[in-house]
Amino acid sequence: MDFSLNDEQKMMIDTVRRFIKEELKPLEDEIENTGFLDQAKATAIYEKSKSLGLYGMNMPDTLGGGGLSNMDRILCEEQFGHTSDILIRRAFGNVYEPLLHCKGEQVERWLKPAVAGTRTCAIAITEPGAGSDAAGIKTHAKKTDTGWVLNGSKHFISDGEWSDFFLVSAKTGDKEISMFMVDKGLPGFTVGKDQKMMGLRGTPHVELFFDNVALEPMALLGVEGQGFKLAMGALNVVRLAQVGARAVGKATHVAELLVNYANERHQFNTKIGDFQMVQQQIADSVIEINAARWMVYHAAWMLDQGLDAREQIAMVKVHAAETLGRVVDRAVQIFGGMGFCKELPIERYYRDARIYRIFDGTSEIHRGVIAKSVMRKGAGLFDLNR
Ligand SMILES: Cc1cc2nc3c(=O)[nH]c(=O)nc-3n(C[C@H](O)[C@H](O)[C@H](O)COP(=O)(O)OP(=O)(O)OC[C@H]3O[C@@H](n4cnc5c(N)ncnc54)[C@H](O)[C@@H]3O)c2cc1C
Repeated sequence: MDFSLNDEQKMMIDTVRRFIKEELKPLEDEIENTGFLDQAKATAIYEKSKSLGLYGMNMPDTLGGGGLSNMDRILCEEQFGHTSDILIRRAFGNVYEPLLHCKGEQVERWLKPAVAGTRTCAIAITEPGAGSDAAGIKTHAKKTDTGWVLNGSKHFISDGEWSDFFLVSAKTGDKEISMFMVDKGLPGFTVGKDQKMMGLRGTPHVELFFDNVALEPMALLGVEGQGFKLAMGALNVVRLAQVGARAVGKATHVAELLVNYANERHQFNTKIGDFQMVQQQIADSVIEINAARWMVYHAAWMLDQGLDAREQIAMVKVHAAETLGRVVDRAVQIFGGMGFCKELPIERYYRDARIYRIFDGTSEIHRGVIAKSVMRKGAGLFDLNR
């Protein structure tokens, strides 16, 4: 077992880290204050990142992406956790893996422009009546002589205002769900209001409405009725990367800040880090972050070996998201009143962290998946010698 990173990996981490520090970090406060990322600045960070080969790193190099292994991608995503969601989207892209199932003309129309960053994509599965029960959707597509007609609605769709097209789940039979690529601007397709959130300032989360939207036959992703299964499978790696690895990165960033503060802040004529109750919070934070990190790396390694890592990713989702929650909560406590005050970003990190336990499957849903699997498969899921 070799736990070391090679020179290329170290260089890649260093490049991403430097880009975040120099190009993205300086924009964070403005986004927090105004609630959005200025268009010209968004274009500037996209162009700079693209010129350095940092855009669409998760996509194959044959399509113009970075061609990274799952492990290398995870190492970058961990760094992405050090800054805001909207800056990551604009600088490095959010090219969803299910798009890799595009075939023929779909590749030129949707996949390649998404990898190049000339067209942005959002994923639209959740509806007001169907969240955790993603198969309980009402949106449906009916086959016609000329393609499909789409009706229904979605909500909470991240980055929907900016996106040029959407990967939309829709019923195509009583028990069948398919995925469609739906271009913004099609007659009958409207983007509703931005649903204001507790955190993630700058990223819009919108409603979508489909009223008899005519889709071409080529809008169907994969095989009719199989698209949903295909998309869910491909979203596993997204969960590992955008939730697991980013949560570890965020928790690491916050832990650095809380350790620095514990060293600098003095009360009762000594630094607060000398108090054992503060030390316990520091120790618990770094223990939990390290455990989460190795879980993320192990799951990425499994994917690179071609192994099925579904249960491991479910475990990562729960543990990394909950670790982040505990670490930011301790940060607020250790920073005291300054942790609650908007003069420092700690309160922002606290708000931004809360969603990690909810999106991409709640902790409860993933715990259910893990428990059912372990009851079915036995101890192999947590004992490598079985
Ligand atoms: C900021 C943000 C961004 C999002 N981005 C997107 C996006 O880009 N695209 C998209 O499609 N969706 C997106 N979502 C939706 C997100 O994935 C859902 O909110 C999430 O899946 C939970 O669904 P829900 O909100 O309907 O909660 P519900 O499913 O109604 O759950 C409510 C509560 O019931 C619990 N519960 C439900 N079922 C079970 C069960 N079987 N066992 C135990 N407990 C259960 C849940 O754990 C939760 O605590 C986003 C949401 C937010 C808030």
